[in-house]
Amino acid sequence: MVLYESTRGGKEGIPSAEAIKRGISSNGGLYVPQQIKEINQKDISNLANMSYAQRAVFILKQFLDDFTDDELADCVNSAYNTRKFATADIAPIKPISENLCLLELWHGPTCAFKDMALQILPHFLVKAMEKTGEECEIVILVATSGDTGKAALEGFADVKGTRIIVFYPENGVSEVQKYQMITQTGSNVKVFGVNGNFDDTQSGVKRIFTDEKLIKEMAKRNLKFSSANSINWGRLVPQIVYYFSAYADLVKIDRIKAGDKINFVVPTGNFGNILAGYYAMRMGLPVNKLICASNDNNVLTDFIRTGHYDRRRKFIRTVSPSMDILISSNLERLLYELTGHDDQRVSDWMNRLNEDGHYEVGQNLLKELHKSFWAGWSNQDETLKTIECVYKENNYVLDTHTAVAVDVYDKYVITTGDLTPTVIVSTASPFKFNGSVCKALFGEQVIEGKTEFELLEILSKRTSMPIPAGLKDLDNKSVLHSNVCEKYDMKTVVTEYLFKGEY
Ligand SMILES: *Cc1c(COP(=O)(O)O)cnc(C)c1O
Repeated sequence: MVLYESTRGGKEGIPSAEAIKRGISSNGGLYVPQQIKEINQKDISNLANMSYAQRAVFILKQFLDDFTDDELADCVNSAYNTRKFATADIAPIKPISENLCLLELWHGPTCAFKDMALQILPHFLVKAMEKTGEECEIVILVATSGDTGKAALEGFADVKGTRIIVFYPENGVSEVQKYQMITQTGSNVKVFGVNGNFDDTQSGVKRIFTDEKLIKEMAKRNLKFSSANSINWGRLVPQIVYYFSAYADLVKIDRIKAGDKINFVVPTGNFGNILAGYYAMRMGLPVNKLICASNDNNVLTDFIRTGHYDRRRKFIRTVSPSMDILISSNLERLLYELTGHDDQRVSDWMNRLNEDGHYEVGQNLLKELHKSFWAGWSNQDETLKTIECVYKENNYVLDTHTAVAVDVYDKYVITTGDLTPTVIVSTASPFKFNGSVCKALFGEQVIEGKTEFELLEILSKRTSMPIPAGLKDLDNKSVLHSNVCEKYDMKTVVTEYLFKGEY
């Protein structure tokens, strides 16, 4: 069986169901598999003739082997179907030039790629609770930079045996993102704005998770925390699937031959998405380079280039808010893998990051990192220019996050001359970030004085693309969650809500 261990030590392995239920390890580390099963090229080729759901079962069982095939199929079929997704392909490939394709991961209910994982995580979790004999009610705590919150709410709303509490930075998400969350229905959901940025919000949630006294209080009331953030392995593992799926589709449409290497460019924030690509590569998917694309908050670009992770810089609010992150949690998992599971060194770096705000990994690890990764960043002007250019030249409308990736890809080609077929991982519908997209496409005058809801209509009319179902008529829905708290009050509101039924 594949067992899971914490990146910060404590070597005894636990089955995936237990790791998914716990979310984060009690010592603050993240769960990773003790071994990675390799898939041979023939099995990869065979994926070409399968549906997305079938591909998912095949990949997932390499990691979640304490689940039966039937259990996995149940989870997969509840998540990846046409009631939830706007296309039967689930994650379609769209070629836009000779060497370049987009992998569209935003056809789920909330119009961003977080649905790929958060539609299935609740089903994993419910099964994991059954399998481990868990009798507590699970309380999901989420810190969101915008997209995770809504996707988690959609995934968990009214799922029996679970409750969900979402925190978002009050001024750090778009109007559409905010409305998606504060209008969420469901008897087990609660949403709070926080006066602070995403990192404050994420740190607050991490502190609550590891608060021993609170955990004891919860246990008395038959409640237990778990996480839907990408620190939960159950959130990460479904993302590995679409790297294989994209590859299989490229083979299927004759863009590549089975066995050819390809690049992936990933618009990156918390490092979850691109890390899933790394696991796919370790499983044997023929990948040349994973290209890590950042916005102005370019901590990861600097890290991947120099080996020095330094969060001591100004946090910048950008047009790609879901990537406005200075502490990329999932990098910890990559460091653990690259050091050959050295929990001492990883713990040390993470402590330094926490205490001093930076750490350095040294030349040997950097060399190892460069075998798989390249990094670049796109400033906001470049990002908006990219949206305009790609629309003019390829008649394709990019969202701001995906545009960061396309701009970084251009820089990669200029720098390296590498013309390997490349997949841009497209993480959001352009309608979700319509303010910036309209500005890029039609100019400042068109957006002046308009709400994001009016801009949805304008974008739809001018590009002849329909408004996705999840974003239509949002402003006419009732606001059900209007509470905002200070960042140091997050624990208080959680206890007041859970123990006293307030809010
Ligand atoms: C979350 C998100 C990202 C960043 O993904 P990570 O897994 O955190 O690196 C990029 N784009 C969009 C639209 C997102 O919602």
